[in-house]
Amino acid sequence: MTATLIDGKAFAADLRARIATEVEAMKAQGITPGLAVVLVGEDPASQVYVRSKGRMTREVGMNSHEHRLPAETPQADLLALIDRLNADPAINGILVQLPLPRHMDEAAVINAIDPAKDVDGFHILNVGRLATGQKAMVPCTPLGCLMLLRNHLGSLSGKNALVIGRSNIVGKPMAQLLLRDSATVTIAHSRTTNLPDLCRQADIVVAAVGLARFVKGDWIKPGATVIDVGINRTDDGLVGDVDFDAAKQTAGAITPVPGGVGPMTIACLLANTLTATVRVNGLPDPE
Ligand code: NDP
Repeated sequence: MTATLIDGKAFAADLRARIATEVEAMKAQGITPGLAVVLVGEDPASQVYVRSKGRMTREVGMNSHEHRLPAETPQADLLALIDRLNADPAINGILVQLPLPRHMDEAAVINAIDPAKDVDGFHILNVGRLATGQKAMVPCTPLGCLMLLRNHLGSLSGKNALVIGRSNIVGKPMAQLLLRDSATVTIAHSRTTNLPDLCRQADIVVAAVGLARFVKGDWIKPGATVIDVGINRTDDGLVGDVDFDAAKQTAGAITPVPGGVGPMTIACLLANTLTATVRVNGLPDPE
């Protein structure tokens, strides 16, 4: 038996369509959500991300404001731009594309963003709010994973969930979200000693490691739901952190790479921008 494919591409398209409908209704009330994306330097991967973020923002009817700064921009100039965006009522979401050039202090830059406009959910206040169960802006990639999990499994309560990776961007917020949904959460990382055994006990595996086909097929518990966050460029194209062909023989459901988590990330960025817009206007949070 092979696993059900979790179609993140289709789910993301549906989510964007729902967002577009909400944006249309807001526009009828004179409100157009605006997302500012700031790119410092010329990192090729970042340029691709920024371009597709801009395109999809416009596709759902939001205003996209792109700011491109040269790599040698002084940090003070970037902070001054963030201040202006914080003060601008036409801007509901601010995203500073990471990584930043080496001369910049990433934490200082992120923490300069108004937490209410922090659509990446990386500001320390949003991290703390998520950790303490308060209303937060939630990082886009783990939010997308959570949506796919809830859609496939319904309740996550009592499930054994293993998150492989403990980055601030994916692993840690993923673990917080699973905990918030009452899963029993284990976080593994490069010092974990018994990873295959931990994996064999997991009803849910979220792999965010950054190593091609790292999670082996015989680590997967029969029927488990496997979410593969990894994006690794190899000679045979883009592959995830899970050995997909082997894992799909045992898993109950699995996300493909590409076409799984990736498309959910930008859709969740738009969802967060919508959330930021409704909150600042005193409207109820979108579903
Ligand atoms: P990081 O490099 O920041 O984190 C990787 C994590 O994996 C670390 O916590 C590290 O542990 C852990 N790790 C490394 N080697 C091992 C090992 N041998 N065993 C167990 N754990 C290990 O990566 P990110 O979290 O930013 O991203 C992870 C992957 O997800 C990448 O492939 C990235 O491209 C992808 N990604 C995809 C996105 C999407 O939209 N689909 C968005 C963001 C990321 P330690 O902390 O001990 O070093």
